[in-house]
Amino acid sequence: MFNITAVPALNDNYIWTIHNDLHAAVVDPGEAGPVLAFLNARRLQLQAILCTHRHPDHTGGIAELREVYNVPVYGRRHPGNPYITHDLREGAQLRLDAPDSDLGIVFDIIETPGHLDDHIAFIAPGILFCGDILFGAGCGRNFEGTLAQLHHSLQRLAQLPGDTRVYCAHEYTAANLRFALACEPGNEAVHQRIAATRELRAANQPTIPSTIALEKATNPFLRCTQPEIIRTLQQRGLADTGELSVFTALREWRNQF
Ligand code: ZN
Ligand code: FE
Repeated sequence: MFNITAVPALNDNYIWTIHNDLHAAVVDPGEAGPVLAFLNARRLQLQAILCTHRHPDHTGGIAELREVYNVPVYGRRHPGNPYITHDLREGAQLRLDAPDSDLGIVFDIIETPGHLDDHIAFIAPGILFCGDILFGAGCGRNFEGTLAQLHHSLQRLAQLPGDTRVYCAHEYTAANLRFALACEPGNEAVHQRIAATRELRAANQPTIPSTIALEKATNPFLRCTQPEIIRTLQQRGLADTGELSVFTALREWRNQF
């Protein structure tokens, strides 16, 4: 069995480390130093690097890590990402279990475009590594592809079991909740999450992982059919209340919030 530990990096990234007493795999190492310190302190051997997408804050530590540990790098191959050694596509499986690894975890891969074209998510029972697609109470920016793709990717993640833990790559929850509150001032779950988030941050604890159920209750980008959100946007001038129009209006508002 394994634990999953947050290794804070850069300004607000989490490098998620899947580890037992001997071995480790890391997700999106934006820098090497904090990962090497974590591995050395626990005398862990790195076995694999998982990469959700090619942004530097998710890949910047890979080269240095591989100077120390010559391990495979799993992700979606892309001309802008020179680090991937094992290409993963929709429907692929990534086995970090015997005989290659004793972490005992097997991921299903889905492609989740809408932030960057090469974005993938790693899904195991009860566990989701979603990079920069889904955040605590928010979602990633649409740098490549369409907002329809981003919306579709989020909808696929929302279909995972409610108790699935959501390991996203950034600590953005508090700022996202301020936006969620502006969208839905009457949502009691948002108020509760704001209080819980304040407590965690005051104790210098990550607000992540959340769960799919909590995101569905509080994340406006997963709540585009909620009457209060639609009303709020109508007051801001939205005419078409179709789900994708609501999602688009939310994402555009969030960009300048
Ligand atoms: Zn990104
Ligand atoms: Fe990022």
